[in-house]
Parts: sequence; structure tokens; C-alpha cells
Amino acid sequence: MSATRIVRLNVLQQSPHDLTEAEPEELSNASRIESWVPSRFNVHATTDDGRLILWNTLSTAISVFKPEQVPQVLTLLKAQGFESRREGLAGYLVERGFLVRKGMDEYRKFLLAFGQQHYRSDRLELFVLSSEDCNFRCTYCYEDFARGTMRPGVRRGIKRLVEARIEKLLALDIRWFGGEPLYGWEAVEDLAPYLSELAERHGVAYRSHMTTNAYLLTPEVAEKLLAWRVNAFQITLDGLAATHDCSRPTRDGQGSFATIFQNLEALSQRRDQFSVTLRVNFDKNNHPHLEELFELVEKTFHGDSRFTLDFHAVGRWGGPNDPQLEVCSDDERDTVQRALKALAHRHGLRVSTLKDVSFVGGQVCYAARPFNLIIGASGKVMKCTVVLDKDENNVVGRLHEDGRLVLDDDRMALWTEPAFQRDSQCQKCAVLPSCQGISCPLPRITDGTRPCVPTRTNSKSELFELLEYPTRMARVREVAERMAPSKEHIELPDDGRRSAR
Ligand code: SF4
Ligand code: SF4
Repeated sequence: MSATRIVRLNVLQQSPHDLTEAEPEELSNASRIESWVPSRFNVHATTDDGRLILWNTLSTAISVFKPEQVPQVLTLLKAQGFESRREGLAGYLVERGFLVRKGMDEYRKFLLAFGQQHYRSDRLELFVLSSEDCNFRCTYCYEDFARGTMRPGVRRGIKRLVEARIEKLLALDIRWFGGEPLYGWEAVEDLAPYLSELAERHGVAYRSHMTTNAYLLTPEVAEKLLAWRVNAFQITLDGLAATHDCSRPTRDGQGSFATIFQNLEALSQRRDQFSVTLRVNFDKNNHPHLEELFELVEKTFHGDSRFTLDFHAVGRWGGPNDPQLEVCSDDERDTVQRALKALAHRHGLRVSTLKDVSFVGGQVCYAARPFNLIIGASGKVMKCTVVLDKDENNVVGRLHEDGRLVLDDDRMALWTEPAFQRDSQCQKCAVLPSCQGISCPLPRITDGTRPCVPTRTNSKSELFELLEYPTRMARVREVAERMAPSKEHIELPDDGRRSAR
């Protein structure tokens, strides 16, 4: 810089640096040699034909490598690490999060992701119990049907609550639950169009889901719900009529299968965008007969991608019939579930897989999130949809008619505390970003048990399912196209669905 220019410059108004030539750009990341080590959040499995499936639970990347690429990948993923530029196969593994810079504190990185997700105040999720009573009496049900349709004062409270918060929200999620939500139609008809319109007027992202037995989901009701953007449903079928009607009779003891299936058929004729998770609860009695159901679903829905099957073992969930239930043992449960998925897939049906929950927090129970609340028919505010108001610890507050939400901070903290922070096993766990130690807060609260997800011990078979059932796969790649463009590269749109319990 010349002396004349320095004299002319008023350093209080202009930086001397601005008079010099711009410095050359720093070396790009790609050309710098760096030290890499495998991520502590990698989960992997090798198939019988030698392919390697890698899932990183923090970056959420899932990649599949061909047998000839596996030795090189495994060499790069050795614990001692290596030095390299960010290019080729190493660059691909870095980009997908399977390799990280040596010395990076990945737990701290996870804490940032957790905090951003868990403590959001711009998101509100409400489970609305439009009726706590039900028109069914399922054998395994844990509810006590203590109250009917949600009172008008509580409905006003919900409207005022959402109105008061809407300006600060980015996302509003309304989940209709019960009892049977359609048994409380008056409340649905009052709230569903109101909340949908309020969200739309304020540009807030809106989702609405209903867990229903579908007995009352007639074409007229479906028409209205879809118009009010209630477009994701969970509906249970426990087999054809002979088995389903044994476990899911109406409250006056009649069969329910024929009516439900008729409503489902009518729904499938519609051209609207919606999703239906067909939940199948299985026990020792019904699982040998479920192929007949798959045949009927195949014949009726002709591969309609809006319908997905999801299998759950019947449990002793706290209902009066618990001692008589023929529940599967833990070992049986996993074997039967795998067999049912394979069978359903052979009939061309879509089944849920790990991919549906492979995002950060994908296996966390909604009850663990501070922004998620159940509003009961009488205005009680609760957390867990299984306990409801049977345990006072689950009643975390009350919603008043003017929209005031009075919460008991101590009970809220009980359900929403980041339990992994006091659990050294969780802190070391490879699936921590997915489960966060709070896949089900209930066992920790009741007896201090850690609620490990099956993915922790069963990750291989869950990863194999991604290859077996590729129609549910999204963002799963057969190796980096950057390195080796390949026709086997698979990238399907993610429908982002997640079934409520
Ligand atoms: S996962 Fe656990 S805490 Fe969550 S709703 Fe179910 S039982 Fe309740
Ligand atoms: S609860 Fe189990 S599976 Fe979940 S993070 Fe903790 S150790 Fe892992």
C-alpha cells in the first residue's frame, strides 16, 4: 500500500484492507489432506451375496455397496482412520457422514441436533380426543371409555389456544384420537375445518392425522375429512372377518370387518392424495390366518401406494382382558413380524420399514416432546396415549375455555426430560440420534427400565428389509454416482409418513 494512499484514507471511515487486492481464496476442502475416522453413528450389515448396507443414524444417509466395493469401504472405515483428500470413495463417505474429521465430537453435534428438534416453540402437536368413548370393544383395548364427546367449552379452549399461538408457529399437527374420534363427530366437525382454515390463513404448515377404527368412515365422512385436510389415517384390520371380528367387535358384540372394508374400498376409489396405514395387530391366534387378508387387500387395492401395512404384536396394555390374551413371546414376536412382512411383500403390498423412521428422532415417542400434548374430552392435558388419565403423572395440566394452558412443570419434565443425558449406555449407543433414549418414556418413569428400540439389537435384519422391500426405500443409493455412475442407483421420493401408535 503506498504512503500517499494511507495519508488519504480516513481509517475511521474505511478499512485499509479494502484498498488492497483480494487475497487468494483458501484451498478448497476437497484439495486439503485431512485425517478421517469412521463415525460413531454408523450401523452396518452385510448380505449373503456380499453387499454392504451402511446407515448413519445422525446424517440419516443409507448407502448400499456392491460386493466388489466392500473391501475398499471396510478399509476406509477401520477405527484407526487415515489421511486423504476429500475425493473419490473417501469423499463420498465423508459427504454421507460415514467418515468424520478426526477429533470431531459427534456427541456434541448430536446434542445440537437434539436441542433444535426437541425444544422447538414454533411447532405445536395436539392429540385431540374428540370422544373418549368408543363404538368398539376390542379384546386388547386398554381404555376405560369414561367420557363421551369433547365438551363445547374444551373445543373453544382448543380454538383460543391455537389462535393465541398461531403467529409464532411454523407447523401445526392435529392428530385425532380417542376412544374413537369419529364417535365424537360433533367435535371433529367443529374443530377440523376451523383449525385447517386458521393454519392456511397464517401460512402455517398443517398436517392432520386420524387413528380410527373406520366403522364410521363412510364416503360422506371421508369427503368432509379430506376437504378439511385430515388426510392420513391409521386403521386396524386383524384379519378377515373370522379373525378380525373376534378381536375387534362393536360395542354391542357385532362383527365390524364388513363395514370397515366397505369404507376402505370406497376410500380407495377416490383420487385424492391421502395415506392409510393398515395396522395389523397379531397374536398367537390370528397370525396363521393373515395371508387371507393380504390376498384380499392385494385384490382390492391393486398395488395402490396410498395403503401401507404395519404389523404390531398384541401386548398386555392394561385392559381388563390382559390375562386371557394369547400374546406372542418376545422371540416369537420378531420372527412372526418378519414373516408377515415377507408374506405381505410377496403379495405386492407395501410394508413399513426402518426407512420410515430413519430420520433424526424417527423412533422417539411423541409423548417425549414438549410441543406435543393430548387434549382430553374434558380438557385434561396428558402425554402418553396408552396411560391417558389412569395415572395422575400423565395428567400434566388443564386447558381452560379461554385457551389458557395450565401445565404442571414437574410432570411435563418427567415425560420430556432428555433421559439419555443421565444414561451412559445411551450416550455410547450407535442409534442414539434415532431413539434419543426416549422411544417410550413410560418404562423409565414406571420402573427405571431403558426403552431400547429393536433397531439396537436387530439392526441387521432391519437393514436387510430395506433391500428386500425397496418400494419403501428413499434416498438409498447403490454407491456414489459421482464415483461410479450406475444404473443401480436408486432414489425414490420420500413420502415422510410416520404412523402414530
Ligand atoms: S410409546 Fe410409550 S410413552 Fe409413548 S404413547 Fe406409547 S406407551 Fe406411551
Ligand atoms: S434407549 Fe437403548 S437403543 Fe435407545 S439410545 Fe439408549 S441404549 Fe440406545
